[in-house]
Amino acid sequence: MFPDIALLQCALRCACPQCRQGSLYKPGLTLSLRNRCPVCGLDFAKNDSADAPAVFLIFILGAALVPLALALEWWISPPLWVHAVIWGGLALLVTVGTLRPLKAYIIGLQFKHRRTDWE
Ligand SMILES: [Zn+2]
Repeated sequence: MFPDIALLQCALRCACPQCRQGSLYKPGLTLSLRNRCPVCGLDFAKNDSADAPAVFLIFILGAALVPLALALEWWISPPLWVHAVIWGGLALLVTVGTLRPLKAYIIGLQFKHRRTDWE
């Protein structure tokens, strides 16, 4: 029921779900996974996170930002360009900052609950 704290910490570090040491991603700011874990050799090609991280992020951002934008409009009614700058920029920053750890978390959940897919 409660989130697995160790898995969350592993996802925040974008680390391998098996050894929790090796990096999941290729060097740089990319979402491309390495072929194998450099520490334990786990084959990352067997994961299937697909679009799940992006879809979850869209739902979370939509649920959080739309009410905030409506509240700002109700409160001070700024010009539309202010909304575009604030919410567009915030959505971009949150997306860039959280997509890698979110994808790592989805991969970790798949590794934990569907271990047979990785064998
Ligand atoms: Zn590993």
